[in-house]
Amino acid sequence: MIDMDDNEVKVKCGFRDCHKCCLNTEMLLSSEDLERIEAKGFNREEFCLDPKQADGFWQLRNVDGRCFFLNKEGQCTIYYDRPMGCRLYPLILTLDTNEVIIDDDCREMEWFGKQTYQRDQVISVQSLVSRLLLENPDY
Ligand code: SF4
Ligand code: SF4
Repeated sequence: MIDMDDNEVKVKCGFRDCHKCCLNTEMLLSSEDLERIEAKGFNREEFCLDPKQADGFWQLRNVDGRCFFLNKEGQCTIYYDRPMGCRLYPLILTLDTNEVIIDDDCREMEWFGKQTYQRDQVISVQSLVSRLLLENPDY
């Protein structure tokens, strides 16, 4: 994905020829993500799966294996409003050990694994997962 905004906690991905993480995405959305995207005129029922199909979470819907918001040119059409999890990817939290790690589905996992991450990036991943779990107490 092309990275254009610089004033937020995120993980910068400079691999402009790649949009692998927007294919068959399983990205979960917090209520804040849903509200921000709906404020742009979208309806969660159109861009998310039915939560019954996603363990009670709101999860991005794929259309023909591509995120609902990915255009033909491989760009995110809601880039500035994209979910927090998309901003922080490929940092993810593994619930088994409660560690923030690089997702091994990322095409450039090796490169990302050699980088140093700021405390606020790691904390943002942990906070996001806590929020998602709090918002889905039945999980
Ligand atoms: S919302 Fe944007 S960044 Fe996130 S998976 Fe979809 S296309 Fe990719
Ligand atoms: S899969 Fe990894 S390298 Fe590819 S766009 Fe996503 S974060 Fe960047």
